[in-house]
Amino acid sequence: MTALLSVNGVSRRFGGVAALSDVSFAVPAGAVVGVIGPNGSGKTTLMNIVSGVDAPTHGEVLFDGAPVQGRPAHRLARLGIARTFQHIRLVPQLTAAQNVALALHEPEAGLADILLRLPRLHRIARERHRLSVALLERAGLGRVADSRAGDLSYGDRRRVEIARALAARPRILLLDEPAAGMNHTEKHALRGLIAGFRADGITVVLVEHDMDLVMGVCDEIQVLNQGRPIASGPPAAIRKDPRVIEAYLGA
Ligand code: ADP
Repeated sequence: MTALLSVNGVSRRFGGVAALSDVSFAVPAGAVVGVIGPNGSGKTTLMNIVSGVDAPTHGEVLFDGAPVQGRPAHRLARLGIARTFQHIRLVPQLTAAQNVALALHEPEAGLADILLRLPRLHRIARERHRLSVALLERAGLGRVADSRAGDLSYGDRRRVEIARALAARPRILLLDEPAAGMNHTEKHALRGLIAGFRADGITVVLVEHDMDLVMGVCDEIQVLNQGRPIASGPPAAIRKDPRVIEAYLGA
């Protein structure tokens, strides 16, 4: 498999703190790649850099072979890099479907267009709703499409965020601790959702603390400790790697 995303020698310093030091790894197209490590190991910094929220101090990020480091998030989103955040960012007063619709591309219309083509705009609005509901159904959330986001359970809200990220039709989806705060049933649904992405050819990078989920769904795992890569490989090898066990237990 060719790499869809490559992180090459990426470092990020915040003043005197080396959040990432010379991190390199490749994400093969179509794979689910986990990024794990103890708190403070640089996982969020890495996600921020790959999604254009932050830029590296050194090193490059290649997407589909082209350097993208330092480009703003909205441009990376257009290239097909989508992400969810550790903290939920839905608009609580809007329905789940309306939250997803916010992420669908806006049809280009000037004022004259709007006045002349109201019937067409109504049709577009209906189409956006239909698309949003389809994305929610894909995330197993069709039943809550018309519920206010603020009234949903925590696990459902997290999955609405994933449905919203899908609205951009990403080629790669970066999930930042999607299972945080989920109960067992919700985690099970999330695991099925991620496996479905792999089946549909959407590449996934998963930052997650829940080891059962990471070990169960990832093809490859990259382990960070204090900003440095300490191990990478398939779940079975990572699970028994002494460097990984020490990083988690010995710190
Ligand atoms: P993780 O997501 O693995 O918990 P982070 O990427 O959040 O780790 O943080 C890695 C290190 O970088 C930590 O020491 C953290 O305090 C530091 N760090 C992250 N962001 C900033 C920032 N904006 N300013 C200063 N230090 C930061």
